[in-house]
Amino acid sequence: MNMTGCPTFSSQLVIDLSALRANYRVLRDDVSPAECAAVVKADAYGLGARPVVSALYLEGCRTFFVAQLCEALDLHPTLPVNCTIFILNGLDPGGEAACANAGFVPVLNSRVQIERWRSEARRRGVALPSAIQIETGMSRLGISEPVVEQLAEDPSLPEELALRLVLTHLACADEPRLPVNEDQLRRFSKVADRFPGVPRSIANSCGTFLSGAYHLELVRPGIALYGVPPQSECLGIMPVVSLRSRILQIRQLPGGSAVGYGHTYATPGPRRVATIGVGYADGWPRRLGNVGAAWFRDTRLPIIGRISMDSMAIDISAVEFGELHEGDFVDLIGPMQSLEDVAGDAETIPYEILTQLGPRHARVYLDGNTSAMPTPGDGR
Ligand SMILES: *Cc1c(COP(=O)(O)O)cnc(C)c1O
Repeated sequence: MNMTGCPTFSSQLVIDLSALRANYRVLRDDVSPAECAAVVKADAYGLGARPVVSALYLEGCRTFFVAQLCEALDLHPTLPVNCTIFILNGLDPGGEAACANAGFVPVLNSRVQIERWRSEARRRGVALPSAIQIETGMSRLGISEPVVEQLAEDPSLPEELALRLVLTHLACADEPRLPVNEDQLRRFSKVADRFPGVPRSIANSCGTFLSGAYHLELVRPGIALYGVPPQSECLGIMPVVSLRSRILQIRQLPGGSAVGYGHTYATPGPRRVATIGVGYADGWPRRLGNVGAAWFRDTRLPIIGRISMDSMAIDISAVEFGELHEGDFVDLIGPMQSLEDVAGDAETIPYEILTQLGPRHARVYLDGNTSAMPTPGDGR
């Protein structure tokens, strides 16, 4: 959500939709003739599901994955009718009617979920579109192999479930050398064979890059679309997100001045210090106190002291006096500091940084040669 009607902002999250589209083309061309879907759960990893889906639609993406029914319902009004939304986490009790009315495809992860969906189908007298997730070694979500075998034998299943996809999820796709990847592929293929003609899917972003054997009929990348390649040598994936923060105040401090909560930092000599308008409430990890940095062009500006809820302090002494003023911007994610760099400094993963970026950042969507397009009030 945007702070509607607010004429100013302290920070700006710039989302390059043409880079997103280029990333989709890279993946789509790489996996062809398999279908390239897009995972847009958690508001497209915090980037804004609606603008992301619209941009990917223009590149021919027609299949989208969310985690929850609410996310699907949110997207539904703006989604063209020739698109399919899969709900990865399946349905919570009571969600069946809304899901069936909207034509979403729940990923059924347990026998109980299957039975609830089948009774909805019987009530309606039609086979309902369905996907089945098979548990092959992650122990997260999915139906065990023996139960899937039983289902495949059930003669009334096809009258109630119109199977659109069988899928499983890789636990260690980011570690290509581990034999567990091939193990999961082998186990999955064996069970999926019980549903001849039904498209199969195993690969997230990392899985897509493992080898062509993992593409099957459909791949489900998320993070690679949003600019984080599984391995740095995956050429062609471009950054999508940049983040900049305004300087709220600048002060000249003598040596020995304490900075921030808890006085965890003291200036080692005279320093120029800026307070900038992003804090942990905006998803900037508190872990980055006295660790990370902001950047002005190619000058590194170390974060000093603890991160506050709405601000943090940076040492701007390395920038020539008079070059930075109150109201100017410094980069937090940009050409000098990638999302991966920030995640590394914070000892977490880019997924977590992205999905935490809060609603106070003004979202700006760039698309090719059209100029910056402000977020619609309900864009996020
Ligand atoms: C989140 C998710 C994906 C996408 O994963 P990335 O690593 O972002 O590509 C694919 N499949 C399932 C089941 C997921 O939960």
